[in-house]
Amino acid sequence: MILTNARLRGRAGLWDVEIADGLVRRVGAVVETGAVQTGAAPADAVPTDDVSPSSSDERDTVVDLSGRVVVPGMVESHLHLDKAWLGGPAGGVGLAGAIVWTTRRKASFTVEDVASRAEHVARLAASNGTTLIRAHTEVDPGVGLVGVQGCSRPPPASHH
Ligand SMILES: [Zn+2]
Repeated sequence: MILTNARLRGRAGLWDVEIADGLVRRVGAVVETGAVQTGAAPADAVPTDDVSPSSSDERDTVVDLSGRVVVPGMVESHLHLDKAWLGGPAGGVGLAGAIVWTTRRKASFTVEDVASRAEHVARLAASNGTTLIRAHTEVDPGVGLVGVQGCSRPPPASHH
């Protein structure tokens, strides 16, 4: 895959970034003819999270970024997957009210409920550029291990 017309941190102009086998393989300045001036991958290049072997279709794919910026994957360092996407109390209850509401809501958690919400928020994070998530779940007498079990369940097979 080639990302063309990309802006890169610390570099002026537009660039082509070639990705293969989950790694940035080549970075070259975009020239007016559309041809690529080749150069080595930048020293700070990082592997992508897609480590699957590239098919010929993937190698031939060119995505025109039209000047959008290419950045490293984002990291979410604190995410409560078990309590994600709960909805919430009506506004104006304050922190103490929200804690009471959440404690009551946790009593109705099921493994399937937690797994579904956790998968939904993880997919949202990934679709917005998050490549790593450090997550944790609550274990207490009210919810027991339901959060751990729900967040440990493998997601259903994807269909892409
Ligand atoms: Zn927290």
